[in-house]
Amino acid sequence: MSMPNFNTMRNFPLYVRDFVSEVDYCPACNTYGEDGVCPICGATTERKAYLDEVAAFEFVEEMETRLNDANAKLEFHSISTMGGKYYGVQFYVEEKHDPNEYDNDDCHYYFDVCRSVAIRRYNSEINKINRILKMLAKEYGFDEVYCSAVFGNGEAVYTKVENTQRARIVRAIKEIA
Ligand SMILES: [Zn+2]
Repeated sequence: MSMPNFNTMRNFPLYVRDFVSEVDYCPACNTYGEDGVCPICGATTERKAYLDEVAAFEFVEEMETRLNDANAKLEFHSISTMGGKYYGVQFYVEEKHDPNEYDNDDCHYYFDVCRSVAIRRYNSEINKINRILKMLAKEYGFDEVYCSAVFGNGEAVYTKVENTQRARIVRAIKEIA
């Protein structure tokens, strides 16, 4: 049984990226080339995909600082990065409090304001986080995707939001299946 790779959220879009890069590689010499030529045997190298763990690690480090700053100003949510179950990384927004589910006393206790003010602040925080995510996604080369299909084995398909043509194809496949 597979599981969906990413965690989707109720109030926030899903932004994801991976850290797969390509290198020139000579399988005969088991070495890396440059400009398509093996430095040992001179043969034409192949392109080989690999997981760029250094880039992934640097990204997580840098993002931790950025998100700590952002989270310090948030009241109801907390933003983090999260590795996919099988590949890639996503932004994940955890909801710590939803004042819609609290009564007036709870709202005074937790937020020091009445329920209607807390709900207004909660809604405006959702908008604020959406702006933060959009900005970070653009800056760090994330794609906005959505879960377009979940197969019987639990595996999920993610489709780029602007890629509507592919979305239609996936939907069509789903209808046939
Ligand atoms: Zn070689």
